[in-house]
Amino acid sequence: MNLVIATPQGLYCPPGDFYIDPWRPVDRAVITHAHADHARRGHRHYLAAAPGEGVLRSRMGEISLDALPYGQKVVHNGVTISLHPAGHVLGSSQVRIEYRGEVWVASGDYKIGTDPTCLPFEPVRCHTFITESTFGLPIYRWQSDDDLFAEINAWWRDNADAGRASVVYAYAFGKAQRVIAGVDPSIGTIVIHGAVDPLNTAYRAAGVPLPPAFKVTDIEDKALLRRCLVVAPPSAQGTPWLRRFGEYSDGFASGWMQVRGAQRRRGVDRGFVMSDHADWPGLQYAIKESGADTVYVTHGSVGPMVRWLTEQGYEALSFTTEYGDEEDDAQAGGDAAPAEPEAEPAGGAASDTAEVDAANADAAGVDTAGVDTAGVVAAAGSAASIVDAGKQPEATLNAPSDVLEAVTELKAPMAKDAAPNEPGTSS
Ligand SMILES: [Zn+2]
Ligand SMILES: [Zn+2]
Repeated sequence: MNLVIATPQGLYCPPGDFYIDPWRPVDRAVITHAHADHARRGHRHYLAAAPGEGVLRSRMGEISLDALPYGQKVVHNGVTISLHPAGHVLGSSQVRIEYRGEVWVASGDYKIGTDPTCLPFEPVRCHTFITESTFGLPIYRWQSDDDLFAEINAWWRDNADAGRASVVYAYAFGKAQRVIAGVDPSIGTIVIHGAVDPLNTAYRAAGVPLPPAFKVTDIEDKALLRRCLVVAPPSAQGTPWLRRFGEYSDGFASGWMQVRGAQRRRGVDRGFVMSDHADWPGLQYAIKESGADTVYVTHGSVGPMVRWLTEQGYEALSFTTEYGDEEDDAQAGGDAAPAEPEAEPAGGAASDTAEVDAANADAAGVDTAGVDTAGVVAAAGSAASIVDAGKQPEATLNAPSDVLEAVTELKAPMAKDAAPNEPGTSS
């Protein structure tokens, strides 16, 4: 029996009569985490993991919310519901649903690995696993946090020694706190954009230790700004708010920075490959550890993941959802305006696809500058089979139309001065 089906309102559990991360207003919503594309306003009643209560309330205001500790079971219409750590952001959970001996788990967004700001992903055994696939391509493999933060700290230290600020663009909820918790605060002062402040407050209230981080208006000794690390949402890029820091170097923290050329397209000095989503091995690990024989893929690189799962012998299907990707601020929408945290519903998937296609072309080692389209298609097609030799040859690039989209994508303005005020354009 299907314990979760896709409906126009969102993923729905028929026997339990509740939704998981619905995108249209419903009576009962189980929320996996407080990112804008998963936690939307307008539901009559919410159920979410207790550690995420503060963050959820700070983003959503007054809502009717049951906060459930991880692992604790509640029964609703005969369906047993429990929430388990997803390792994505503070309070993120996988939703376990059990009915008449059948167990389904909806993962929401998740990542494998260390993050000092939330509990680690906990594998939950089930018959059917519903997974995201934001970075579901073999090119996505994250380095360890030790290596990542050594890289960020070295960059910050060099800038501080040269008397200039370091600006890191990181999504305001989750990524920003992870940056702040991970860097070496002895290098200089940590300054946060106003959009990050209420989330830091919610994290600290939930018991997550963060080093001191100040709003710029709270810093009296302006000389400190020349050695500071600024943590700001991507939408702050190119805004007058940054002028007060004088000369600065900037970097972007996102899984998309793994894609060759992404840093240049983003118009930043540095790209830090840092994601709150599982990388390709992480997705495989979670799926395997679930013990499921049936897997539904919700968002991200859906087609390649479904094909890979099928090749591995899984019963693989997909759900069409309206989940986006907070690491691509073009989709995150309300990042700079926490009062309006709704994600952009239209075009999200298309933008996502274009990004992945660009990733494919990049992974295939295609340099599109000055190359005609036919040449690119041929080059990308042949290179793709090299990228993923022997395993999932068609998982990286499969149709000329994919490459054509990638080419269009890559012809977008790339230079830093080409579109300084449009960090959210579909790059
Ligand atoms: Zn998320
Ligand atoms: Zn998401």
